[in-house]
Amino acid sequence: MPLSRDLACRLIRVADDELPALLAAAVEAKERFKPAVITYSRKVFLPLTNLCRDYCGYCIFRRDPGEPGAHTMTPEEVLRVARAGEKLGCTEALFSLGDKPELAFPEMRATLRHLGYNSTLHYLEAMCELVLRETTLLPHPNPGLLSAEWIARLAAVSPSMGLMLETTSAELLAPGAAHDNAPDKVPAKRLRTVEEAGKQGVPFTTGLLLGIGETLDDRVDTLLAIRDLHRRYGHIQEVIIQNFRVKPDIPMRDWPEPTRGEMLRTVAVARLLMPDINIQAPPNLSAPYHDELLDAGINDWGGVSPLTPDFINPEKPWPHLEQLKSITEAKGQNLRPRLPVYPEFVPAVTARPGLLSERVKAAADREGYAWRAA
Ligand code: SF4
Repeated sequence: MPLSRDLACRLIRVADDELPALLAAAVEAKERFKPAVITYSRKVFLPLTNLCRDYCGYCIFRRDPGEPGAHTMTPEEVLRVARAGEKLGCTEALFSLGDKPELAFPEMRATLRHLGYNSTLHYLEAMCELVLRETTLLPHPNPGLLSAEWIARLAAVSPSMGLMLETTSAELLAPGAAHDNAPDKVPAKRLRTVEEAGKQGVPFTTGLLLGIGETLDDRVDTLLAIRDLHRRYGHIQEVIIQNFRVKPDIPMRDWPEPTRGEMLRTVAVARLLMPDINIQAPPNLSAPYHDELLDAGINDWGGVSPLTPDFINPEKPWPHLEQLKSITEAKGQNLRPRLPVYPEFVPAVTARPGLLSERVKAAADREGYAWRAA
């Protein structure tokens, strides 16, 4: 029986004495889905540009042109980082970038002109292609809202892509709220991008950002919106449950962080609502209790980089891979490296002939995981 909205709204509020039963049900569901395996993706982080036309209240990544740290990577920098990652056994090139900065900033238009591209998305497409052609890494772009045309273009040079839905609550667009002055965070627009990826059968990563002003019911509604799109198109490869972390220099610096209990309840409800979708929570954002996320039904730790820092949360280093392995094994699970595209979606990508298909085939083992040892 699929979990109803009413029940999910009750479960996300369970009292502490009922929490162990909720977690046990979530772990049981995870074990039915992916028995005794927890995955992670060995990646390099490529912050292609941190210029962004949006001003999300929790963002430490974005910059305006001329601000200290504002930077757009050159193709040489992209290739240097990708090659260094390749030497360390990485298989994913995660491209993160601000949304359409050239629409707001003449400086970005000039940079793109100098590089020889009409838009940030044209430049991203070229850099995905460069990485694909020159290295063994597989690109996974996260460029913000995308049209049908751009989803198709990026899908030709990357096996999967992502857009955090974050929340379906339009209340967060109100003056003073987290998405005030963030035109690309209108939930209906983000849902359209996720849906369009579904129509094109593109393996897609999305997720929730917890603790940015949404209610507990909003969390359930966001999960349900993702589940509904997956039921229609079958393309959601992964749902990330990411918790807001406070930082000194952000507009939301006095905002409370979601608690451990909120995080565990949300992960468990996500698992019960979506028993057949990969659920990820980033370990670096939940230290020191990140091992407990395994008790709530996650089956993936997300991207872990042996090389590049987490530019979105630079003050929260990733646990060392050895540490992640021992935490995972202590719970009776095997840690396995995966590609940016999950094993169950590999056949759809390799079915299309071309360089992308060849690269994915070369990187995947017989079960669709990454070749390299954990
Ligand atoms: S979270 Fe993304 S869209 Fe929002 S300001 Fe930061 S980079 Fe821009």
